[in-house]
Amino acid sequence: MLPYGRQSIAESDVEAVTEVLRGDWLTTGPAVGAFESELAHWTGGVPCVAVTSGTAALHVAYVAAGVGPGDEVVTSPLTFVATAATAALLGARVVFADVQPDTGNLDPDSAAALVTPRTRAVTAVDYAGHPADYDELRAVADGAGALLIADAAHSIGSAYKGRPVGSLADLTTFSFFPTKTVTTAEGGAVAAADPERFLRAARFMNHGLVRDPAEQRHPGEGGWHQEVHAFGLNYRLPDVLCALGLSQLRRLRRFRARRAELVARYHLMLSDVPGLTLPAQRAYVEPSWHLYPVRVRDGRRREVYDRMRAAGIGVQVNYLPAYLHPVFEDLGYRRGLCPVAEAYYAEELSLPLFPCLSDVQQERVAETLAGIMS
Ligand SMILES: *Cc1c(COP(=O)(O)O)cnc(C)c1O
Repeated sequence: MLPYGRQSIAESDVEAVTEVLRGDWLTTGPAVGAFESELAHWTGGVPCVAVTSGTAALHVAYVAAGVGPGDEVVTSPLTFVATAATAALLGARVVFADVQPDTGNLDPDSAAALVTPRTRAVTAVDYAGHPADYDELRAVADGAGALLIADAAHSIGSAYKGRPVGSLADLTTFSFFPTKTVTTAEGGAVAAADPERFLRAARFMNHGLVRDPAEQRHPGEGGWHQEVHAFGLNYRLPDVLCALGLSQLRRLRRFRARRAELVARYHLMLSDVPGLTLPAQRAYVEPSWHLYPVRVRDGRRREVYDRMRAAGIGVQVNYLPAYLHPVFEDLGYRRGLCPVAEAYYAEELSLPLFPCLSDVQQERVAETLAGIMS
């Protein structure tokens, strides 16, 4: 089965990892800082902290934003459940705002209608790698006295109005799962420009430990002393995986270029196929495409999914609106809450897209889909 996404591992990645395995550190060593610095080249200089997954990154970001019981987090339902689940786990109420019908990104007007004095954060999701409308979302968040968070699991390397993802929100999270544009097997990162929020993030992902004597409450204890001022977790991304990430980031420009080339080819090959809506792109963004999300009209998505799979083409559906997961249903969320997101979900089908997808494989995908639709 041709997958919808997969990693690109080069000999240089293998060498980077084995070099760490032969060295002195498996976990926190020099590759961690090197990876974080390289990441900051992609966020316009905004500092980053590496963590164990995109989900951990969201958890850390919400903690750094001060999200807790009594707070509300406004976000998109057209996302992986972790965007909402991590806020709910912290005791916040998740408020789902609807998406734009063409990009599938959080609709600023819908978000504006739902913010309240309790809104602590507005979380955008750069669906498929296409940045959300950050200028408008910034105005919504500022107007509510809330922070703007970007779930950029799909969009590392993308830009909005000439500004890189990572510099657009108060806190940005990345995922390095193998289907994503850059991988560390499992992994993620948080970018935060504000030093206080960065420090909260960096502490929470390392048990809350305070090592700097100048910051300690009981600094005279001895050279071994470290203290915890607020509870944290161990979300440290090991050196081995940071070495892989660093090696991958060095190829991000090439990954972006090949993904863009494949997207342009899909556009050409599918533009005349009846019953399909192809993904939209705003003039002012430069996406790193993670997904190629077509919409299958006329109620045929399920049939097309089944027939593509039967033909050995591993298409995917991204995503079931998050509030339709039973855990949210049990909290009282109901079908009909975000009609645009539900309509998008009902038609969505992600076609294979990854850098080592060959032209011939891609032609087979497009021809199979065209054959089913005609
Ligand atoms: C992949 C993904 C996550 C979670 O990342 P993991 O690294 O798998 O934990 C969160 N949000 C979105 C939009 C994702 O695509």
